[in-house]
Amino acid sequence: MLELTDLTVKYGAVTALNGLSLTVRKGETVALLGNNGAGKTTTLSAISGLVRPSGGDIRYQGRSVAGAPPSEIVARGLVHVPEGRRIFSTLTVHENLLLGGYLVRDGRGLARRIDRVYGLLPLLAERRGQEGGTLSGGEQQMLAIGRALVAGPELLMLDEPSMGLAPLVVAAVMEVIHDVAADGTAVLLVEQNARAALQIAQRGYVIENGRCTLERSAAELSVDPRVVEAYLGGD
Ligand code: ATP
Repeated sequence: MLELTDLTVKYGAVTALNGLSLTVRKGETVALLGNNGAGKTTTLSAISGLVRPSGGDIRYQGRSVAGAPPSEIVARGLVHVPEGRRIFSTLTVHENLLLGGYLVRDGRGLARRIDRVYGLLPLLAERRGQEGGTLSGGEQQMLAIGRALVAGPELLMLDEPSMGLAPLVVAAVMEVIHDVAADGTAVLLVEQNARAALQIAQRGYVIENGRCTLERSAAELSVDPRVVEAYLGGD
């Protein structure tokens, strides 16, 4: 469904991605693991059109989307939840969700999508009138995910959804991501918390210095000595 081939991204003199290749199949959850600066965020930014690759290709359903404008990429079903959530803090939960549907022209269709999100994330339904900025960190992450779902993704890209959250809250957020995936949406999950990511992913890649150096099933990665040593705290 999504195929990155030999992707190169440069920020001036810095080469952030250096021949990165990976695939995500329909309905699959794929984890991207790697140290700070390995190129995980840049990978998501390149897919969603926020940075332009200088080499290689990004193909989605057989067509290249490399260098396409972000709005076109969202409209094609590739939706990115950036690191740090970036919800609108003075708008209500419901208003934030409405903004997630800015590309949805038909008002009834939008209302239906928002209702589905409330069904999947009942916590948001309970708080639909609350200002985004007054939600807890975990609730804000759920809202960021909910807002992305309103856009109707076929592939949801999540950048560090567990960042800054207490372990119990991480578990709740991961469960939501698992539910989204079970609903048929493919997920590309960037996580420092490799343990949590590998629990919900089917497959994963390790990224080092801008390229994928290891690709395995999540079960295999969880016990791979290189992964255990570098990303699972050595136990
Ligand atoms: P982290 O987990 O710390 O976010 P990451 O794996 O997501 O790390 P990237 O953010 O993709 O890594 O960064 C890859 C490389 O590109 C790093 O060396 C980083 O310093 C560099 N880089 C990222 N964004 C920019 C930018 N806007 N300008 C210059 N260099 C950048």
